[in-house]
Amino acid sequence: MSHAVRGLEELDPAGKRVLCRVDFNVPFGDDGKITDDTRIRAALPTIERILTGGGRPVLMSHLGRPKGEVVANLRLSPVGMRLQELTGHPVRSLRESIGEEVEAAVAGAEPGTVTLLENVRFHAGETKGSPELAAAFARLGDVFVNDAFGTSHRDHASVCGVARLLPSFAGLLLERELAAFDRVLQDPARPLVAVLGGAKVSDKLPVIASLVERVDAILVGGGMAYTFLAAQGHSIGTSLVQHDQQDAVRANLARAEATGCRLLLPVDHVVGEAFAAETEARTVDEIPAGWMGLDIGPRTRELYGATIQSGRTVVWNGPMGVFEWESFRAGTEAVGRAVCDCEGYTVVGGGDSVAAIELFGWADEIDHVSTGGGASLELLEGKALPGIEALRARD
Ligand code: AMP
Repeated sequence: MSHAVRGLEELDPAGKRVLCRVDFNVPFGDDGKITDDTRIRAALPTIERILTGGGRPVLMSHLGRPKGEVVANLRLSPVGMRLQELTGHPVRSLRESIGEEVEAAVAGAEPGTVTLLENVRFHAGETKGSPELAAAFARLGDVFVNDAFGTSHRDHASVCGVARLLPSFAGLLLERELAAFDRVLQDPARPLVAVLGGAKVSDKLPVIASLVERVDAILVGGGMAYTFLAAQGHSIGTSLVQHDQQDAVRANLARAEATGCRLLLPVDHVVGEAFAAETEARTVDEIPAGWMGLDIGPRTRELYGATIQSGRTVVWNGPMGVFEWESFRAGTEAVGRAVCDCEGYTVVGGGDSVAAIELFGWADEIDHVSTGGGASLELLEGKALPGIEALRARD
């Protein structure tokens, strides 16, 4: 990594077409309205910076998974309307993302206006990283800015391909995300505590394998905890389990012993007989046959809460239980509260833990709430993100 990533302070946007990859992959309700515009708001500082510097922003994003075809309800025009409300600048949403008409529209854009290209995933070449598609995008900008942290772990045409063709810069959101994860991963204030939850143990095992080498404590909760407990010989009833992952889990437990990392597992549970919101909830130490663990129990909440509070750096990814249902929310709520109350530096990443923090209304009490689930996990795993490496590659 010989080249540093250049930030916007090194870009004079005056008079330039600034092609900017953003992450406007926002959720929509059944009525076709945007239900959460956090990702649009997160891109505003970069857009404002380009506009006030006299540049012409040309924004590109994906939305959903149209798989290379035009899908009417995945057009970006509703996002354009929301963006116009938020910025107060005219936003022109185009119905294509490449081609002569798009090039003409971009060339004719008035200063002070924003151009939003159509969903880049309407072209199959986007997710394949097609060089031809990247070249077609690159014709729309004099320079490129990547502000799409949530997509930077993907080697896609509008993320990496364009960065290889134009002078490229990191946007303000991307810089903020990288700075937050640097603070966790490079010489953090200790103790460094990682809290990991969620359903799929196979997704998180590589992260745990990397974290046992560098954190002081890992607190495991959520559905993935039961594969660990099963590997230790505990009864787990009908809880979620990935039997094919048990050897990997044992290897992680052994490695934690060797490195002196405290790897904590739930010591009690809130269980239900069915995977359903209204199922009867009971608190138990050992899970009886026919019951499944759906949340961490009160003693675990206390243990995890105290460990989190003692941390000087805390990173949290993944809920402790099925927090979407009220009977199984207390574990995620207790961990969230402890992260908020911790006096150290706190980072929350991953779609579901961010959703939980927002459900409780506590986002303001966290030092950094990440906009990228997969991307933040890959950083915690110690991987380089292709979208960031592509920014480094150019002079
Ligand atoms: P992930 O996408 O792997 O981060 O998993 C997030 C999902 O895991 C959330 O929707 C939770 O409802 C679910 N989850 C958390 N704990 C459990 C559990 N004990 N059993 C089943 N699902 C769970």
